[in-house]
Amino acid sequence: MLNQELIGALRAALAPEAFVEGEALAARAAGWSRRDGIQAALLVRPASTGEVSTVLRLCNEHRQPVITHGGLTGLVHGADTTPADLVLSTERMRAIESIDPAQRVAVVQAGVTLQAVQEAADAQGLAFPLDLGSRGSATVGGNASTNAGGNRVVRYGMTRDMILGVEAVLADGTVIPAMNRLIKNNTGYDLKQLFIGAEGTLGVITRLVLRLREKPARQDVAMVAVPDFDSLVALLKHMDRALGGSLSAFEAMWPEFYELVTTAPAKGRPPIPHGHAMYALVECSGGGSPADAERFGQALGEAMEQGLVVDAAIAQSQAEAAAIWALRDDVAQTMRDAPPVTFDVSLPIALMPGYLDEVRPALARRFPGSLLWVFGHLGDGNLHLVLKAGMPASQARPDAEAIVYGALRAIHGSVSAEHGIGFEKKAWLGVSRSPAEIALMRSLKDCLDPNGILNPGRIFSL
Ligand SMILES: Cc1cc2nc3c(=O)[nH]c(=O)nc-3n(C[C@H](O)[C@H](O)[C@H](O)COP(=O)(O)OP(=O)(O)OC[C@H]3O[C@@H](n4cnc5c(N)ncnc54)[C@H](O)[C@@H]3O)c2cc1C
Repeated sequence: MLNQELIGALRAALAPEAFVEGEALAARAAGWSRRDGIQAALLVRPASTGEVSTVLRLCNEHRQPVITHGGLTGLVHGADTTPADLVLSTERMRAIESIDPAQRVAVVQAGVTLQAVQEAADAQGLAFPLDLGSRGSATVGGNASTNAGGNRVVRYGMTRDMILGVEAVLADGTVIPAMNRLIKNNTGYDLKQLFIGAEGTLGVITRLVLRLREKPARQDVAMVAVPDFDSLVALLKHMDRALGGSLSAFEAMWPEFYELVTTAPAKGRPPIPHGHAMYALVECSGGGSPADAERFGQALGEAMEQGLVVDAAIAQSQAEAAAIWALRDDVAQTMRDAPPVTFDVSLPIALMPGYLDEVRPALARRFPGSLLWVFGHLGDGNLHLVLKAGMPASQARPDAEAIVYGALRAIHGSVSAEHGIGFEKKAWLGVSRSPAEIALMRSLKDCLDPNGILNPGRIFSL
């Protein structure tokens, strides 16, 4: 139950269409591929920064917890709510305010979807290079708050690297207009970074200045098979060098995953036969000259001569390229019968075989008959492990986490490469961050949100 005085003040300040409650609220899914509805006292949909400021100021005065919702595609339960929470949704803040082709920036509201930004940039001959499978629903405010990664980090970096400015509202309603448009601006602390990757715990992001790039005129894509892991690492280095900076994706697939997404009932078919040690999707984005394709083919040819690649299928059309990407994106195959236990970790590339040699048998011992699929953004040292444990995921998760995350401690790996901490991983934060770092995070939280109303309990307990 919300404080009646607070409800009255909110209703007086915002239009009726700003409120969703009761059955209409419970009918909304609580997250991507979830069947349960949103459990919250009220969902408020402000339409402007001023309205966000008003909502937060009033909630702060009443010590009311506020959970921010973007597209609800986050995968670490950061946007989960309780019946006592108030949800602040950015769904009515979807304006693409401007695109400046000379400065190569877009100014957008936080609730605009990633796909809408990509399309708007594309219409101007530019590109916003962030790309995730959830592009149609995920918002750029959510992308910034989770510092999302995706498929092209190897070339363009994480979301953090694509944001020049941020406007955020603090818990007490103060608006921080850090809407920098300049690539170079070393005037004191870079305040936008406080809010990027903070998972909504330090402020609500309301507007962003996004850095755009010239749109690549063509993409060359291949699926390749390699004889062993060392060859895969050597291939990554070879392609990066040979392509002179235009390598834009390097996605590794261990055989169990490749076979899963290229065998019925999956729709995909294998562009190269099964039976190899490992597979990789390699993409290069170029300026459009016929020399791009030639250079791509030549680089792969050299890799074959050196024995780094044992088979390759180079896409001959956009449709073939899309079909190869669809294999990599078909993670839904791992969810066929029941939700699996999924992990998103990162570690030094050279340590991956040893890490998997430790984790695989440990999982098999603990969960006899289980299945493990491994794939990931190899160029970024990011692995996704998906475990079908033979029991409900919630039951398997604690022991599986102890195995998968425990093995990262000694090698200084990260328990979250790109999805954040949310509620799901906070017990494991200490594997990847020191006590001093966590203490500083707490101090920042205390300073910016002294009443602890913003997304409380995410990342660490208050
Ligand atoms: C099919 C699929 C593929 C995916 N692929 C990737 C991938 O390749 N890489 C990757 O990194 N992630 C991936 N994700 C995860 C997810 O899409 C990202 O985390 C995304 O950035 C979340 O955006 P969202 O708008 O859905 O945020 P939400 O899920 O709504 O929220 C995520 C977190 O951010 C906070 N938040 C949201 N908006 C704001 C705001 N304006 N201000 C402050 N806090 C806010 C929320 O409170 C929550 O803590 C994938 C998810 C799916 C379902």
